[in-house]
Amino acid sequence: MNGNDNDPTYRYKIPDFVVQVAGQGNGIFTMFRNIDDISKNMNHPKEVLLKYFASVTGSNYNPLKDSITGTHKPDELKKIILQYIKYIVMCPSCNIPETIPKVVGNKKNPDLQLTCCACKNESLVKPQNKQITKGIDIIIKYLNGGGEWVINKGWMVLLTQNERAERKKERMAKSKASTETKSEATTPTSEPYQSNPFDDGNTNDNNSSDSSDSDFNIDDI
Ligand SMILES: [Zn+2]
Repeated sequence: MNGNDNDPTYRYKIPDFVVQVAGQGNGIFTMFRNIDDISKNMNHPKEVLLKYFASVTGSNYNPLKDSITGTHKPDELKKIILQYIKYIVMCPSCNIPETIPKVVGNKKNPDLQLTCCACKNESLVKPQNKQITKGIDIIIKYLNGGGEWVINKGWMVLLTQNERAERKKERMAKSKASTETKSEATTPTSEPYQSNPFDDGNTNDNNSSDSSDSDFNIDDI
């Protein structure tokens, strides 16, 4: 990663997988030691992630041990999760991995829709391949079963425009309080709303229409 602000993925990194293989023979299994971290980072429940790993690798998931059966190396797991991120986490419009999934469509044939916290784009997750189809099914089942979707990150962009303006105002008021007694400065509410959640002034770069798959460096997440 070059840390360049023009790269919308620079801020998002998932930790490397820390796993521990235990058991013997047919009873061998792989425990995910830092799945809580990874889950938090992605804002996807660990139950969903572990079920996905189990499904994709043809293993069984054990929620009590945060494990799946068989031996799985961190590199293999990372490859699997990067594809998941690419198709089920990233907003296809602005390439920011801050989306919230929702089940839409009819009950018999539901779709999974992602709503982007940054640009508000709504998109259906396309069943690109067998793995992604499995991911879609797992998330739909999770949500339909009343599963909670906790958002740990991206709270900034979940605020409404007014809330953001209010917070900015508060911050500015605080910082000015020390040097001025009264400020006539333009209120922050008049500033244009930026869909970029990080206020780095590069809003437009993230929305460029040529952010195609080829631009997406999957190793850089
Ligand atoms: Zn977006």
